[in-house]
Amino acid sequence: MKLSAARHWVFDMDGTLTLAVHDFEAIKRSLDIPLEHDILHHLAALPDEVAAAKYAWLLEHERELALSAKPAPGAIELVRGLHGRGCRLGILTRNAHELALVTLQAIGLGDCFASGDILGRDEAPPKPHPGGLLHLAERWQVTPGELVMVGDYRFDLECARAAGAWGVLVNLPDNPWPQLTDHFAVDCAALQRVI
Ligand SMILES: [Mg+2]
Repeated sequence: MKLSAARHWVFDMDGTLTLAVHDFEAIKRSLDIPLEHDILHHLAALPDEVAAAKYAWLLEHERELALSAKPAPGAIELVRGLHGRGCRLGILTRNAHELALVTLQAIGLGDCFASGDILGRDEAPPKPHPGGLLHLAERWQVTPGELVMVGDYRFDLECARAAGAWGVLVNLPDNPWPQLTDHFAVDCAALQRVI
């Protein structure tokens, strides 16, 4: 498949469609999570009561970020362009579903994604697990090889690789993970120019 022929696109949200604002180190410090730990994995391993309070703090913190989200360079034009071509568009994020809706609304893309095509941390196992992409492929009745996953981190690329989908990296000046990447573009505007 050529990238320009792809009709099924899945986007990571934070740092891919929006400017990265999550300060993960600050979040970890606030929640007493060792810096080398993964936030969601760490919380999942805690006793329910302790985890519930920390999830609540995380949701509140992320809601404020969602309301003030700003689009990444070229993200609006890329998504609107694909939407205008009739492509199926999904979101696969480690953020919460309701906050993904708030974020997409805030950057002006709320109408481009069906709610059921937006998979958050409660709808899919966290990336790099391929479950979210496999779910969307089934939902859209295509093979995983027809999906393009666009993201800004290695988890997005590893998720694509594990699912058998295309992995596209954006929003970094250089590509630190060439072995995991099917296409690299410095930002969404550069990606739009090649499709
Ligand atoms: Mg990201």
